[in-house]
Amino acid sequence: MGVTVALLTRDLRVHDNPVLAGADRIVPLYVLDPTLAGLSANRLRFLHQSLADLRESLRRLGGDLVIREGDPVAETMRLARETGADRVAVAGDVTGYARRRERRLRDECERERTELRVTPGVTVLSPGAVRPGGGGESYRVFSPYFRAWSAAAWRSPVATPQRITLPDGVATGSLPKIPDGESPHAAEGGETIGRRRLSGWLRQIEGYEGAHDDMPADGTSRLSPYLRWGCVSPLAVAEAARSRGAEAFVRQLCWRDFYYQVAHAFPKLSTEPMRPAGDQGWRYDDDAREHWQDGLTGVPIVDAGMRQLRAEGWMHNRARLITAAFLTKHLGLDWRIGVEWFFRWLLDGDVPNNSGNWQWVAGTGNDTRPYRRFNPIRQALRFDPEGVYVRRYVPELKGIDGAAVHQPWRLADPVRRGLDYPGPLESHRDEAVWLRP
Ligand code: FAD
Repeated sequence: MGVTVALLTRDLRVHDNPVLAGADRIVPLYVLDPTLAGLSANRLRFLHQSLADLRESLRRLGGDLVIREGDPVAETMRLARETGADRVAVAGDVTGYARRRERRLRDECERERTELRVTPGVTVLSPGAVRPGGGGESYRVFSPYFRAWSAAAWRSPVATPQRITLPDGVATGSLPKIPDGESPHAAEGGETIGRRRLSGWLRQIEGYEGAHDDMPADGTSRLSPYLRWGCVSPLAVAEAARSRGAEAFVRQLCWRDFYYQVAHAFPKLSTEPMRPAGDQGWRYDDDAREHWQDGLTGVPIVDAGMRQLRAEGWMHNRARLITAAFLTKHLGLDWRIGVEWFFRWLLDGDVPNNSGNWQWVAGTGNDTRPYRRFNPIRQALRFDPEGVYVRRYVPELKGIDGAAVHQPWRLADPVRRGLDYPGPLESHRDEAVWLRP
């Protein structure tokens, strides 16, 4: 009977997981990789919670999650030898790190005459599954990608294994300690919670189109961290949404796949501009950067977003757009500063979506209108018309009713002076013109 070592990476689930399918005997493995030990406390916490949940699920199926620590390639090959495995399986992924890992795994498997099976599952459609006409490697513009993606045949979901039996004598190893995260209101990791969130979400999905930009309503799925870590299957989410006719939501999932195929073709997405012409004239101003990071720019909608990020390890998409545009287009600071800061806090932070979206906002990426500017006040009045979102995250402004909260500099002098809240950044007071709605 064949044995497969399934190296789990960011596909931490038992349902619809191609890595766990297609073999008589599966040995599920997660390797704690010291190279990734520098993950932010928020993400490390989510990861370790997800591993604990996965181990429980695998135990219920009669197996276990084998935990090892060290170089993933060396540990995988060691376990393959220990268990007499004739095959190794891993999900295909797009980052430079993941691709180097896969290449090394391929070399080792070849040397040891072990089959390597690279499976889909990190996205709905694998990067490269659809390609633009004219021989390009990836789509640079979203709309034609969306058309091709929607028309393509998606793979069939795979069944959850009925039973997993580890070969005798395999040491399973201890789960890593779950560290404290930095965000007090961060979501908890794991497939069980992710699946629960998904079923709750499917009951309200029909309201998505009208609510996804409504900042106070919080009317989005908040599935992104579970998609990021593979606690839910992107394919299962997309199929469930499509079968309910939730096209607007399916389109957002396609944006996720879009940036994966961009990252696949352009591995330096986090550091190098896709459109070099837009990557010029950035300022490096520590004071402005710190005010932005601390949510103390004096522009309430920006500060609310930045504080939501710290409090929850997550930020509403509209707030991500506003805060990112503020950093790059208004403060004129380098988008890479934003990439790094979001990456540190976001539970869903990943290279394709974080860097891809930052480049889009900064005008160095795939936006077909790279010079667009977001006026934060107009955005605030439109998407948080009563100021509810701002008051939720900026308690200093709680006493100000309605939309007046968006422009504290316009309040009567005594009220303004009574606020423990800064005026717009000194360095940009001259540009206060764009703060007019
Ligand atoms: P929903 O609105 O419920 O959408 C469902 C899913 O679609 C999301 O979970 C996500 O997987 C996908 N999706 C939605 N919008 C986008 C988008 N613009 N790009 C790619 N996928 C999308 N998303 C991440 O997953 N990781 C990141 O690191 C990340 N960084 C971002 C940085 C910036 C500057 C910006 C503007 C956006 C970023 N996004 C990122 C995209 C988006 O903001 C989040 O995916 C979304 O807010 C997650 O919330 P949700 O799950 O409730 O989304």
